[in-house]
Amino acid sequence: MSCEAVQEELTERLLTPGAPGPEHWDPALRTHVQACTACAGHVQFLRALTTSLASAGAAALAPAHIAQSRARAVRALRAHRPSRAFGRELVGAVVVLALGLPLAVAQAWLIAQGAAALLEPLLPEAVLIALGVFYAGTFLLMVGTLYAFVPLWVAAVRRARMEVP
Ligand SMILES: [Zn+2]
Repeated sequence: MSCEAVQEELTERLLTPGAPGPEHWDPALRTHVQACTACAGHVQFLRALTTSLASAGAAALAPAHIAQSRARAVRALRAHRPSRAFGRELVGAVVVLALGLPLAVAQAWLIAQGAAALLEPLLPEAVLIALGVFYAGTFLLMVGTLYAFVPLWVAAVRRARMEVP
């Protein structure tokens, strides 16, 4: 069980009025909370929050608890699912592009071979090598640039999809 899953479970259990106490929790959950400082801290935070809610009423929540809640919510929103989904989509896009890579390399290789065969009788070897290096460098730069744009492209597609009402 990951800390995120544990903390979601804890939030559910501790913020639900009348939910069974820790003695009725799953032993795995109790063991994790005892061993993990992050999840134990989450329990403390939730207890302080419920105390604050019960004693002062919703209108007078302690500012520290409001700030903590906001920070946790923002962290959860930013860190969890979007990044995982983004990673998955990024891997998908890279895989699709990688499928075309052998074709691009084979084509570049054929062009280089053809050009070398044609130019060999006409040019000195040093010039041929320089042309080959220049061609290979240009090819690598283009392919590298294409792959470097993949994360931007995936992010742009995701953003456009999210902004659709
Ligand atoms: Zn934990």
